[in-house]
Amino acid sequence: MDSKFTDAAIYNIQHRYAHDYDIIKLCDDYLLHKHAQRNGGAAKGAWPALPKSVTLFGQEYQIELVQELAAAENEYANVNFYRHLIQIDAACDLAVQWSSLCHEVVHIIDHHLMLSLDEPATCRIASGLFEFVAQLGVTAELIEGIGC
Ligand SMILES: [Zn+2]
Repeated sequence: MDSKFTDAAIYNIQHRYAHDYDIIKLCDDYLLHKHAQRNGGAAKGAWPALPKSVTLFGQEYQIELVQELAAAENEYANVNFYRHLIQIDAACDLAVQWSSLCHEVVHIIDHHLMLSLDEPATCRIASGLFEFVAQLGVTAELIEGIGC
């Protein structure tokens, strides 16, 4: 196993670097690596397309895939609480789109419950949520259940 991706390594790196994007990128790399291991190295294509929307706290958030979002905004995804819109970079691998969706869902939970999470905490919780989703396996039935 690549030593870059051990649990101890990701813990150390999360605590060494302050910059959010470093943490997010590393979390994504780590989770994709674990997901690939779980699926016999077939991470690409193992994830279905994102749902069209998700509903949280009774409010429906549309999910929009945006071309070159990462290049324009230096982020894979964002959420607008007033427009109830989650934007995700269309060019990202599907697993990255799902991890980005998990991240924006944590922002929505934070917003609605007024938790005042900072970005690194949001990223870490989102990584845990993504890990949980990956463990369950995202199936067409599950996507239908969350409002595709
Ligand atoms: Zn964020």
